[in-house]
Amino acid sequence: MVREDRGAFRVRLDEGERVARLPGRRRIEVTSALELPAVGDWLALAPAAEGTETRIAAVLPRRSSLVRRAAGGEAALQVVAANVDRVFLVSGLDEEFNPRRIERLLALARLNGVAAVILLNKADLCPDPAAALCCVRELSPEVPAVALSALEADSAERLVAFLAPGETAALLGASGVGKSTLVNRLLGEARQATRPVRAGDAKGRHATTRRELFCLPSGGLLIDTPGLREVGLWAEAEELRGTFEDIEALAAQCRFRDCRHLDEPGCAVLLAVEAGRLGPDRLDAFQRMQLELEELDQRRSRTQEKARGRELAARLKTYRRVKPKGH
Ligand code: GDP
Ligand code: ZN
Repeated sequence: MVREDRGAFRVRLDEGERVARLPGRRRIEVTSALELPAVGDWLALAPAAEGTETRIAAVLPRRSSLVRRAAGGEAALQVVAANVDRVFLVSGLDEEFNPRRIERLLALARLNGVAAVILLNKADLCPDPAAALCCVRELSPEVPAVALSALEADSAERLVAFLAPGETAALLGASGVGKSTLVNRLLGEARQATRPVRAGDAKGRHATTRRELFCLPSGGLLIDTPGLREVGLWAEAEELRGTFEDIEALAAQCRFRDCRHLDEPGCAVLLAVEAGRLGPDRLDAFQRMQLELEELDQRRSRTQEKARGRELAARLKTYRRVKPKGH
């Protein structure tokens, strides 16, 4: 599936592209957003008679997916892209540059088990891209990071170096960071609409409105996604383990095994912050993510309980209806 357009799914076949829909019945049966087709999915199509709409029979099992918590208070998830080998986390090296945002994107990739590459775009606007690179390498030393400018021709090659023929990558990042410009650079043509930066601020108006999969001349596949305003994480709180290795290494030395690094005596993490070995922002980001995922855990169990309650009520109603009189 290469694009979704309000319930219509554009699919690519050997003979070209076509729009397919979910059968009405199935749409009702779908209980989780996980079961809906996402960009990057392989679909089984029902044979269609001449002149009728193509129907989706099934979404084939995914080998990976990028899942995030949908915007808004509900505990709802959204599949951003399916079957991706790699995710490019894009940030702009302009006034909007924000390591905390990259930290969240890194957590999202990690929680989804997808390899990441950090792209610091708009290097032409930054007096010291090397300093910014240093800063993001500290966040996650094992993730490759490159500074580039989508306006320069060599940016395509630098990106393609991370995307072997046949592999699929997704671009993730806020709107205005230059994702569409990069796509166009890679395609060698203007296929994704970009919008000029408004005078007076660094925000490019978000031009990408839908997710779409592109086949690159290099043989790789690239999924462009609309700018994520919120990087909602979708995972169990426990899964955060491994995302903040620096803090975890310190926490192993805290006096209490269940130390929350707030005000406990003998806390090695707080000590490291005091000594300037750990940024207070970093600890703050870790604690926020933990709280956020704990809150999500709770919400999800509440939603499940409600669903179980509804199911029970329905069964009870059926039981009363069919129960023979006098019993
Ligand atoms: P998207 O929302 O992430 O798809 O961002 P766009 O590709 O639409 O880019 C937003 C604005 O930033 C556009 O005006 C681009 O021309 C501009 N832009 C993108 N890449 C660069 C870059 O490397 N350097 C500079 N100076 N501007 C860029
Ligand atoms: Zn501690």
